[in-house]
Amino acid sequence: MTVLPYQEALAAYDPVLGLEVHVELNTTSKMFCGCSTAFGAEPNTQVCPVCLGLPGSLPVVNAKAVESAIRIGLALNCRIAEWCRFSRKNYFYPDMPKNYQISQYDEPIAYDGWTEVVLDGEIFRIGIERAHMEEDTGKSLHVGGATGRIHGADYSLLDYNRSGVPLIEIVTKPVEGTGAKAPEVARAYVTMLRDLLRALGVSDVRMEQGSLRCDANVSLRPVGTAPFGLRTETKNVNSLRSVERAVRYEITRQAAVLAAGGRVTQETRHWHEDSGTTTPGRNKETAEDYRYFPEPDLVPVAPSRDWVEELRATLPEPPAARLQRVSAEWGFSELEMRDVVSAGAVNAIEATVAAGASPQSARKWWLTEVARRANEAGVDLEDVGVTPQQVAEIQALVEKGTINDKLARQVFEGVIAGEGSPAEVVAARELAIVSDEAALAAAVNDAINANPDIVDKIKSGKVQAAGALIGSVMKQMRGQADASRVRELILEKIG
Ligand SMILES: [Zn+2]
Repeated sequence: MTVLPYQEALAAYDPVLGLEVHVELNTTSKMFCGCSTAFGAEPNTQVCPVCLGLPGSLPVVNAKAVESAIRIGLALNCRIAEWCRFSRKNYFYPDMPKNYQISQYDEPIAYDGWTEVVLDGEIFRIGIERAHMEEDTGKSLHVGGATGRIHGADYSLLDYNRSGVPLIEIVTKPVEGTGAKAPEVARAYVTMLRDLLRALGVSDVRMEQGSLRCDANVSLRPVGTAPFGLRTETKNVNSLRSVERAVRYEITRQAAVLAAGGRVTQETRHWHEDSGTTTPGRNKETAEDYRYFPEPDLVPVAPSRDWVEELRATLPEPPAARLQRVSAEWGFSELEMRDVVSAGAVNAIEATVAAGASPQSARKWWLTEVARRANEAGVDLEDVGVTPQQVAEIQALVEKGTINDKLARQVFEGVIAGEGSPAEVVAARELAIVSDEAALAAAVNDAINANPDIVDKIKSGKVQAAGALIGSVMKQMRGQADASRVRELILEKIG
């Protein structure tokens, strides 16, 4: 597939984004029945006649899910419908046994809102078209194919545990005016939404478990023109990093199509994490194809204004205000805060500070050691395998002098490899700094005796030559010594 270099693409075309985020609510039971929603259970153990779509079964709305939907709508500055209905979205799919999905069509519970994302100190206002309630489908597992897709598979397995789990779909209005920053704005928006949903306490928002899923719509129009181009919808992008990469790729791919005089096909596309590319899925259906009609088995939802106001009082701090507050509390410079936000590390640092670490040390570990590992593994920070509590424990061990920064990296490695808590890793790998003065003194003596020429240099006033001796002692101590104490001992002995 040909792509245009990014800068060239942006010189000729203006990207317009549309982001659809599906969030699985963390209610204990499903949207329309009492089945459990716990993740990871044995296949088809959390099912009943309603979520299996058996004849004669009747759905009942989960009040907690409606409450979460309203709170999400309010947090996104939406208007809350005084009266709305569910609709049937009709289509066949093996993981949807009713042959229709209960969703909302022209009467979403929340609509016409907005939110803001901050990127490099610049505020982008994102319009929210709607947030509506629907149910999740089951899961298909295609066995025997190389790619995990149905093509080439020998057979497929179906798990209906997820069928009927409450979902909220949050749809933005077209996002214009981002220019070359479109991929980063897309990522910043999903990051902001993830943090907001977590603060609301309505979802686990685990992208890698699919409880937060993003479809990214991208279209291009020639710079300086108004009408939108034809768009593609890249489905189920499953990490924050991939959201940015997928948007960037689609811009360069569509630009190449347009620059060659072609037409972008309006279609869904699959994202490939390994190659960083998208491939065509199905041609995009239109709403008419789904034959939406009001769900006859459910009563309308008519939240009272009093209830809506009660729920408004439970909202967390708005995301932009929260960023300003934590930045001031942590004493970060604008540049430091910018890096923290673009790495999606605000929550992680907040939790690490709450666990006892200083803001600067929390920032250091998340943006260096954890970020490096996240990049290598192609995952988000929170999926690297180390928790904020563990980062705070590692930092505490550094401050106590049990380990130094260099040894701390080995502790990260051990924790991520599942070798236990930071203290357990230090014990098992014997990483603790040796404070045994006799052992240190012996190593210092060895280094001095083995390097008479360096000793002469130090004696003649070249104190910086001590670095070589310190290095030799540290090597002998396998890095497990306090370098400043070693320096002191060397200068004492020679001086
Ligand atoms: Zn059920």
